[in-house]
Amino acid sequence: MIPRRRIRLDWADLADWLKAPFLSPCQSRAEVAAFEAEFSRAMNIPHAFAVASGRDALCLIVDGLGLQRGDEIIIPAYTLGELLPLLADRGLILVPADIDPESYNLTVASVCAAMSPRTRAILALHLLGAPCDIVGLCRLGIPVIEDCAHAPGATVDGRPVGSFGVAALFSLEANKALAAFGGGVLATRDPALAAKVGAILAGRPRQEWPAMKKMAFKWVEEAVIRSPLYGFLARLLFNERWARRFEGFYRRATGRVRPQIAFSGMQARLARRKLSQLAQRQARLEPLWQQLAAALPADFAPQKRDTFGTPAFYNFVARYLGGNLQDLRQQAQTLGLDLGIHGEVMDDTARMLGRTDCPKAAAVFGQAVLIPLYDGMSRNRLDQVVGRLQALAEAKKSS
Ligand SMILES: *Cc1c(COP(=O)(O)O)cnc(C)c1O
Repeated sequence: MIPRRRIRLDWADLADWLKAPFLSPCQSRAEVAAFEAEFSRAMNIPHAFAVASGRDALCLIVDGLGLQRGDEIIIPAYTLGELLPLLADRGLILVPADIDPESYNLTVASVCAAMSPRTRAILALHLLGAPCDIVGLCRLGIPVIEDCAHAPGATVDGRPVGSFGVAALFSLEANKALAAFGGGVLATRDPALAAKVGAILAGRPRQEWPAMKKMAFKWVEEAVIRSPLYGFLARLLFNERWARRFEGFYRRATGRVRPQIAFSGMQARLARRKLSQLAQRQARLEPLWQQLAAALPADFAPQKRDTFGTPAFYNFVARYLGGNLQDLRQQAQTLGLDLGIHGEVMDDTARMLGRTDCPKAAAVFGQAVLIPLYDGMSRNRLDQVVGRLQALAEAKKSS
């Protein structure tokens, strides 16, 4: 079974893991400060803080900007559902705005339609690394928080995403582009927000072992994904009966805010290396993305990513226009291809909020398919993915 995602493991990561227990608090602090400075320079954002997770960054931004109970925040109708409770728990009123069906990103028109006199912020996501119309959104005169979890390295007019809004969050989770096995970055050009965040972070204790433990768990997970056992597990779990429950369990087990844990020295070393390799990674994966997009069977439409800028690679997602996603997935499994569908791609947050006014997000949720394309995938493997997709289309035609 070709898995839908894989984590890249470097010997250098292992070396950092082995050295982590010997880092002095002073060395750890210096590593984190060096990472923050390099990140700030690379993304062209004056202040950058390494934090516990992307979610932690979002919470710090929302609190730091002074958003209060009863304030409205516009969110994408298609994004990570776990962000919702973080905002709702603060008493904020979440107003989803519909998406463009080709790029799956927010549009200026849909955000305008969702605006009210109580709107205090817009959470703008660059979905799957595709820049949204961030310039247009920033012109609306409401503070824009940029969710760059998928998009480090993407640019608009040559300028990195994250540098347009009042503040930005990045994720350093194992499955994201800058994998430090957990952690995130809060970046901002607002000195007042930076001062507040700096003061909060200074009070957090720094420990190496939580990130070390997480990395060890991820290695075990990766060993399972690379083993013959994976094909069996994928068929057992990724079906109509179990997939949603498993996805929920997996997300609860792996994704947490963890604000009590400061970013560690080991994570900073990992993140510095990944940051220095970001352009190279992009140069390797982008041609593979293009090759896969060009080779898709006719009933798939790949995401449109370049309307407003130059995308960064995160995942390969296309809409399937040929019918039921459960059936598609099941057929793909029999051909040895693991596809992600529904909440395994992203969530229909409008529906989660009990709303029915974002039909395009609902449609994309019902069509989006995650097709395997990941770090370290060889051209040979990619040819296999293409071959199996074509076999799928052939089987459908003849049935
Ligand atoms: C991953 C992700 C985040 C942040 O995630 P953490 O796991 O908390 O680092 C935020 N937004 C989106 C859309 C994401 O996919």
